[in-house]
Amino acid sequence: MSSNPSIAIIGAGVAGLTLARVLQVHGIRSTVFDLDASSTSRDQGGTLDLHVESGQSALHAAGLFERFKSLVRADGQEMRMVDKYGKVHVHDMSTDHIDGRPEIDRGALRQILVDSIDQDTLRWGTRVRQVEQIAPGKYTVGFDGQDGHKTPFDLVVGADGAWSKVRPLLSNARPVYSGASMVECRFLNVDKHHPKVAELVGGGSCFIVSDSKCVMAQRNGDGSIRIYVAFFVDEDAFPAMEVKLNHPSTARPYLLELLDDWDESIKDLVRLCDESFVFRPMYALPVSHVWESRPGLTLIGDAAHLVSPFAGEGANMAMWDGSELAKAIADAVQTGKPLCEAVSAFEQRMYAMAHPKMETSGNNLKLFMSPNGLEMAVQYWKTHISHEK
Ligand SMILES: Cc1cc2nc3c(=O)[nH]c(=O)nc-3n(C[C@H](O)[C@H](O)[C@H](O)COP(=O)(O)OP(=O)(O)OC[C@H]3O[C@@H](n4cnc5c(N)ncnc54)[C@H](O)[C@@H]3O)c2cc1C
Repeated sequence: MSSNPSIAIIGAGVAGLTLARVLQVHGIRSTVFDLDASSTSRDQGGTLDLHVESGQSALHAAGLFERFKSLVRADGQEMRMVDKYGKVHVHDMSTDHIDGRPEIDRGALRQILVDSIDQDTLRWGTRVRQVEQIAPGKYTVGFDGQDGHKTPFDLVVGADGAWSKVRPLLSNARPVYSGASMVECRFLNVDKHHPKVAELVGGGSCFIVSDSKCVMAQRNGDGSIRIYVAFFVDEDAFPAMEVKLNHPSTARPYLLELLDDWDESIKDLVRLCDESFVFRPMYALPVSHVWESRPGLTLIGDAAHLVSPFAGEGANMAMWDGSELAKAIADAVQTGKPLCEAVSAFEQRMYAMAHPKMETSGNNLKLFMSPNGLEMAVQYWKTHISHEK
């Protein structure tokens, strides 16, 4: 293959940025297009725990593990599992190590990656409208309100998340609603203004699970606490829910009613939080999502294997994809192997990595949101997580 393939990465989330960074480590240039105006123009959401075999392994490949280590919060691994009466069933305080599943804020992680990439690689404020084939294995990229890239790319990578514009060129699959949605809200100055809430949540995560509902509270690096209230709601109700649950004056009473017979200390999480509420329906791609490999195109991250957040795998898999695809491309460049063969072999490895995790994520949602969800969550914690720490 050409010693200098032209590569377009659509999306500067953790998948696309990891890909660009690891390519750069191997001396290969790429161009990353993202619709965000800059890396800080949008709230990046809460905290993530990075797993040894995926997220952490990608950071090693990116040469960024030491930088990551200086920013992780080992105490963010503190875990509590609580029932609706406020009774604590699990309280794991074993947090004095970073080899387990250390926490980092998503914004901080994205910034480490952004800072490590040559700035002319990143094209902020470019919303990709279409990707067009102009010759076998060659694609151009068109943008909203601007001229597209006239120069064709040898590889266009769809790292553009759940509602990927690249995915329809490879697959007919669309994200399917899981049946459950979340409302996200926040406490900014919680230690000062709401010490009892801070005490209930602690320094890491607190899962409060009962009655097929789940309240997840997580401490972030700036000391704030993010709350996610998850519950089942029909897709038909979305238009009404979007109006109701994105506004404090209607979201607060709705959530208080939803948690009507829960302990007052738990209801305080939605009664006293700040004025920002965001409705987030949970979608996932079908577990067996695959496509016929096509020269010049591929997908990574949520675009390839969107999952519900109930196994904490989405960002970890996305980073693994970015790093492994970069290594496969670098190997093709070095050995002269055809790029399309390297990408196709990577896709097979990605399916093998992602499919079991997609299955676990879907199963966890059903288990944790079942009538005996707390028992299931405690069991999952004991078998799968606590021994890794
Ligand atoms: C509430 C919640 C909690 C989560 N918790 C965890 C967790 O604990 N652990 C974990 O591993 N995962 C977690 N996840 C999942 C994780 O956030 C995602 O799996 C991960 O962000 C996927 O990364 P990505 O780069 O593939 O996609 P994204 O992060 O979605 O990035 C896609 C990028 O593409 C850009 N883009 C989209 N369309 C276009 C376009 N047309 N043109 C140009 N740019 C475009 C977007 O601006 C964005 O920057 C959670 C998700 C949610 C919603």
